Amino acid sequence: MNNASVDTALRSPKVVIIGTGVTGILMTIKLREAGITDLVVLEKKDCLGGTWRENTYPGLACDIPAHMYTYSFELNPNWSHLFAYGAEIREYCEMVGRKYGVTDKVQFNEEVVSSIYDKGKWTVTTRKGNTYVADFVINCTGILHHPARPQIKGIDTFKGAMFHTAEWDHSVDLQGKRIGVIGTGSTAAQVIPEVAKQAGKLSVFQRTPQWILPLANKEFSEADKAKFREHPNRLRRLRLAYEWAIQNLLTKAVTGHQPQNFLFSAMCKLNLRFSVKDKKLREKLRPDYKVGCKRIIINKTFYDAVQRDNVELVTDGIVEITPKGIRTKDGREHELDVLVLSTGFHNFNFMRPMDMRGKDGLTIDEAWSKKIRTYRSLFMPNFPNNFLMLGPHTPIGNYSVIAMSEVQCGYILQILQRWRERKFDEIDVQPEALERFSRYMKEGMSQTVWVGGCQSWYLDPDGDPVLWPYTWQRWEKEMKTPEMQDFKLTTFA
Ligand code: NAP
Repeated sequence: MNNASVDTALRSPKVVIIGTGVTGILMTIKLREAGITDLVVLEKKDCLGGTWRENTYPGLACDIPAHMYTYSFELNPNWSHLFAYGAEIREYCEMVGRKYGVTDKVQFNEEVVSSIYDKGKWTVTTRKGNTYVADFVINCTGILHHPARPQIKGIDTFKGAMFHTAEWDHSVDLQGKRIGVIGTGSTAAQVIPEVAKQAGKLSVFQRTPQWILPLANKEFSEADKAKFREHPNRLRRLRLAYEWAIQNLLTKAVTGHQPQNFLFSAMCKLNLRFSVKDKKLREKLRPDYKVGCKRIIINKTFYDAVQRDNVELVTDGIVEITPKGIRTKDGREHELDVLVLSTGFHNFNFMRPMDMRGKDGLTIDEAWSKKIRTYRSLFMPNFPNNFLMLGPHTPIGNYSVIAMSEVQCGYILQILQRWRERKFDEIDVQPEALERFSRYMKEGMSQTVWVGGCQSWYLDPDGDPVLWPYTWQRWEKEMKTPEMQDFKLTTFA
């Protein structure tokens, strides 16, 4: 081979993929399809599935229509319900992993503890002490991943069983027990109806009520599934219909489109009005903020559950957790055998607690000390050749994260292709581009419902929402092609 042919041949990068939830599985498949085969795929646990592996609480389901919450290249005719249950989604992840040869590629039980950059190379070290040197790192570490235990006085004194929804303790028998659930978010709305069926008494500790959109979980019959198998076009059309509906109705409802917001507001308000008979209880369940300000809960069973005879909605604030239960502001002690913490996640951790260091030893904690910011959700300045999947400003009002990952994956592949063509060794986002992107996000936020005066996991510590404030269509269009002028490209001699 002469020198000229060496220079024009595509280089093959070594890439470390961290995490094998829906995003890591996708990246592994797509990189290999693109001919990038020198991959190290690291997973801290012993199987695939990410959030669908971690969460096993009763009632766990996805509130995005199942036929849309699938990879575009692996539609699934066999979903049992409109909103698939967790175990089924996990099986789907495992099936895709096996079918596309991802599972065999993954190094399981390999938690990454550090990721250090130096001149075009990342050195990734795992807890076991293994190190991998790579040209690129792709963090597929998820958003809602680190359970948040509430900082409530006395929490460690509770003598009964206590666990977070994302760490469900299946050894605890709930039958006939006095159970408390703290929280009334998307997770709690799924957990409470199931726990209520078993509990002797269930106390639901609500700090802030939520708006609920009443969509029933339609079951697909065997005949439906057979039709989808025989006619894949039906499946495609169904997916397109769901995509259209969420893009043009739900996503627009939360990003400043009044007719859509009016529609969903009316649906949620009528749901409360007609589902909850007792006026006093209804008022306790009525949010005082705009529909969509907190993530709209899609659920048809929560209101029925809180009206059961064995369920009490407690709205007096929690003062402390005692050895026997929970004491509320009215002085009552609610005695409990089991306490379930449905209190959400530390969603700003991203790839942390990993020790991640970019140029000149800059740590990710230092880089994000004032504000957690990224360019186009994927890039952090001074952390070259490193991508954060589903980073800040990725979440798009109630849309499928699988679809978002596919778009981000397409974007990353274009960047990698340029590296392969030797157009650079190091790619880093320009500080001005980050500033411009941050301004662009801020400008869009003012029209969204997230600035409607409610508290939610959508807000960063400064109270700024970290979602995409525009339409899905706009995001997809802008993510189609990287704007290369926004990057500083370096070639090492
Ligand atoms: P979340 O929406 O953050 O809700 C946490 C709940 O805990 C809230 O009701 C919160 O009250 C309450 N809470 C937290 N700390 C508390 C304290 N110290 N005292 C009293 N109450 C406290 O968490 P999540 O329900 O786990 O849902 C998080 C996200 O996960 C969802 O928005 C969604 O994106 C995702 N998720 C999705 C699905 C799905 O079907 N796709 C299902 C479950 C979850 P405040 O509202 O007052 O803060």
